[in-house]
Amino acid sequence: MRVICHDCGKLTDFSLDAWRCSCGGAWEPVFQPGFDVNKLKTEDRSIWRYGELLGLDVKTPYQHMGVGWTPLVPSTLYGKQVHLKLEYLMPTGSFKDRGVNPMVNQLVHMGVKSMVEDSSGNAGASLAAHGARFGIPTQIFVPDYASPFKQHQIALYGVEMIKIAGTRKDTEDAAQGAVGSGRTYASHAYQPAYLAGQMTAAFEVWEQLDRKAPEWILCPVAQGGQFLGFWFGFSRLLAAGLIERIPRLVAVQSEKVAPLYQAWKAGLDDVPGIIPTGQTVAEGVSIAKPVRGKRLLQAVRESDGLVIAVKEEDIILGQQELAHSGYYVEPTSALVIAALKILVEEENQVSNVLLTLTGNGLKGSPKKHG
Ligand SMILES: [Zn+2]
Repeated sequence: MRVICHDCGKLTDFSLDAWRCSCGGAWEPVFQPGFDVNKLKTEDRSIWRYGELLGLDVKTPYQHMGVGWTPLVPSTLYGKQVHLKLEYLMPTGSFKDRGVNPMVNQLVHMGVKSMVEDSSGNAGASLAAHGARFGIPTQIFVPDYASPFKQHQIALYGVEMIKIAGTRKDTEDAAQGAVGSGRTYASHAYQPAYLAGQMTAAFEVWEQLDRKAPEWILCPVAQGGQFLGFWFGFSRLLAAGLIERIPRLVAVQSEKVAPLYQAWKAGLDDVPGIIPTGQTVAEGVSIAKPVRGKRLLQAVRESDGLVIAVKEEDIILGQQELAHSGYYVEPTSALVIAALKILVEEENQVSNVLLTLTGNGLKGSPKKHG
């Protein structure tokens, strides 16, 4: 698998040991195959219908777990017709499976012996499930504030879970310290195959909308794998002449942890990171410095998008609003509903909006709602 570092421009073959570039940058897949509708395996209703188009060494999975091809449902929110992409309807209850499944298949192809990851819960649960399914020893580091339901889920898969006190960054540092001696950093933030998998959401949406792109897409953004996946996927559809323009990509964060928002507002080209002003109920976006900050800002700007930071109380209201439409998501997912309200107020002509619903409501901690 060919990868590139966009921080220094290095191009190389991906290896299990070098989980990031020597300059510290994150590897990105070099997408070789152009998007060709004749390469779709249309009988396969999972991410692997696009197996020939991902640029991975694996074209068909070693283990088929039914990841992807999530429902796209029309709905009305704040007076606007929108489409909801139910990414929480995956084997482990979150959108993370869309990236972790191809990532683990790629790592297995490369001979991975054991895996380490740090996560506020959803990525950890997804990797734990894959570790169990593939029989690969797996360690998951979680911050001790992570939802007990997510911690229970990770533990149930039978992997080793290590709780870390302190910040989300402390958990990341602990996991990275455990990498080596045959243990691979199977990180959703760093692994290039994870990004390749997230790209399939764009392809699915395009097929589900009768081969059209939405005008707007709203995503919660922490490390931004889903966000970049949409950008990569729709960029490839554009390059193939299959859509007229890339959707305007809107990244949504909590006001309490908003590194991308602050960098975007200040007109920066990279995200220097921030000191969070408190703990957010949207625990899935508690990342003070995303590793692909430059690319996230580029995706926002090149798609004529926006970054929106929302208040804590609006996250809870957003969750309730969505529940009144029949959908039960965790608070992190509800960021996009709060952002939609702001977008509708600020932009008169908003239409054809897609919202991603990333995590099942059963994963969240009701006690945090106060
Ligand atoms: Zn580099």
